[in-house]
Amino acid sequence: MQADANKTPLARACLHASTPNQTERQALDQSGNSIPLSPVSQPLAADSLPATALPVVETFHSLQGEGLQAGRSAFFIRLGGCAVACPWCDTKHSWPADLHPQRPLAELAGEAEAAAEAGAAFVVITGGEPLHHNLGLLCQALEPSGLPLHLETSGVDQLSGRFAWITLSPKRHRPPSTELLAACQELKVVVHEAADLAFAAAMAVQAREARGGSPGPELLLQPGWDSPAGQALAIDYVRRNPQWRLSLQSHKLLGLR
Ligand code: SF4
Repeated sequence: MQADANKTPLARACLHASTPNQTERQALDQSGNSIPLSPVSQPLAADSLPATALPVVETFHSLQGEGLQAGRSAFFIRLGGCAVACPWCDTKHSWPADLHPQRPLAELAGEAEAAAEAGAAFVVITGGEPLHHNLGLLCQALEPSGLPLHLETSGVDQLSGRFAWITLSPKRHRPPSTELLAACQELKVVVHEAADLAFAAAMAVQAREARGGSPGPELLLQPGWDSPAGQALAIDYVRRNPQWRLSLQSHKLLGLR
């Protein structure tokens, strides 16, 4: 059931609620038509100090279910805290950071090393919105595992930590920073309605602009879970736009975590 975001305990969930400073922008598509670009948000003020312990919702070793890395063995660290408040969020339980135990980084590092021995190919830092926290020390702590570090973020905060792979999943109501648009390896946009496709096209243009002409990120459209309209729109768009590919939440289809 989708909860009403206005009734959620945002007072506890919001680590850094602030109003984005936004600038209206425009660009042209390949046919010369005007694309209304989304406003560029200034990053939220993430925790400025690297944390020695972080709120953890859960850790688990499974398969990556989404995106270009789908189907690969991965160790997940889901951090607590999110103030982005997507109405269709499937991890609303992660929003209040203070409901989840603060876990020392050494403990998480130990679990990552065990996962590496058990076959994990990489670590996924997800949430919640993991970049609400400074991830510098977490990334350092995970280095001895030898596993590449992947990040899943909405891109509303400053980037912290060092990652081999960044999945940027931007939100229409809280557009990402130019920094994350430039840094991501894949851009994954969730589709529920036609406006999400226009947003995805605008994000792709902005990601190319943000890296000054260098090749852009991999482009993926992911239908919202249980959204037949989103599924039809995404499939039709990908069929007509070969630079995009479809991302499915295969872990949900298979009943995996
Ligand atoms: S950014 Fe992610 S965790 Fe936060 S509300 Fe949106 S979907 Fe949920």
